[in-house]
Amino acid sequence: MKTGIQPALINDPFGDPGLLVQFLLEKRVLLFDLGDLSAVSNGTLLKVSHVFVSHTHIDHFIGFDRLLRTFFGRETTLTIFGPENIIQNVAGKLAGFTWNLVELYSESLTIEVVEVRQSGLLKGTFRAIDRFKLCNERQEPFENDGLIVDDPTFSVRTAILEHRVPCLGFALQEKPHININKDKLQSMKAEPGPWLNELKQSVLRSEADSTLIAVPLRGSESSQDIPLGQLKSDLIEVFAGQKIGYVVDTVFNDRNRKKIVKLVESADVFFCESPFLADEEARGQERCHLTSRQAGTLAREAGVKQLQVFHFSSRHKDCREQFYNEALEAFQGQPVSIEK
Ligand SMILES: [Zn+2]
Ligand SMILES: [Zn+2]
Repeated sequence: MKTGIQPALINDPFGDPGLLVQFLLEKRVLLFDLGDLSAVSNGTLLKVSHVFVSHTHIDHFIGFDRLLRTFFGRETTLTIFGPENIIQNVAGKLAGFTWNLVELYSESLTIEVVEVRQSGLLKGTFRAIDRFKLCNERQEPFENDGLIVDDPTFSVRTAILEHRVPCLGFALQEKPHININKDKLQSMKAEPGPWLNELKQSVLRSEADSTLIAVPLRGSESSQDIPLGQLKSDLIEVFAGQKIGYVVDTVFNDRNRKKIVKLVESADVFFCESPFLADEEARGQERCHLTSRQAGTLAREAGVKQLQVFHFSSRHKDCREQFYNEALEAFQGQPVSIEK
């Protein structure tokens, strides 16, 4: 099984937090948080369609300007999700620049901002051509299960977590899909057509390998019956849908613990903050951040396949391996009692 998405941290675990997810079969990138983006090329940034901001502390939002600089003057729409007050935060950023020359650009950027609140979604639009004045504010119901994007190729869910201010955790689910190898189709002398969609459906329905599929031949009226099993090995690639969890800047308490475990349950990769070491639980509670052991515990309780800790405190520059070891020990080990 292959996967169609590639998630990677933008910076070193001691740098600003942020996750970049590349879609390998389409020109699309998703960004989780907008910290320091200097490691990302303009070409990659221009593929960004959706941005998911956990909260607007400066290490998670300073990169907004870079994103704006890269997209300004282009006819495209960027959608930014964030917690309560994100519309005002974006408005404040945009108000920091002078936009009297926007009419000179032939293409106009649109920024759609979606504020995730307990009570529902608040949406607002900023258009370059209107000098980024906030318009079209509207409220929509918030799905109970936290679904905020449902695209043909992926969906994203969120949970509102506690970090003195509301902070969003996210789960990205890539949808399973099937890719037809065009070169193989050519060499089989098969004629493309609606039968390829039926073939995909047969695979998704897990029909028997012996099922015969009528394959129309190029330049002829006739078709050839080929077993599904043979077409599966010769012609198609099946991409399993990966699930990616992303949780930063949150405190370890029962409410958050339940929400995080539900959100990232069975994720293939769980990116989880771990600013503090295992013996700093009191400090973590006070600052509303997780320790390495708490990150490992959440990963184990959620049954994720792989844990990647990051957002390490710069006070512990010499303890890189300790963060990983403590998180891994809790991830693989026995349940630990947690102080509240
Ligand atoms: Zn942070
Ligand atoms: Zn924070």
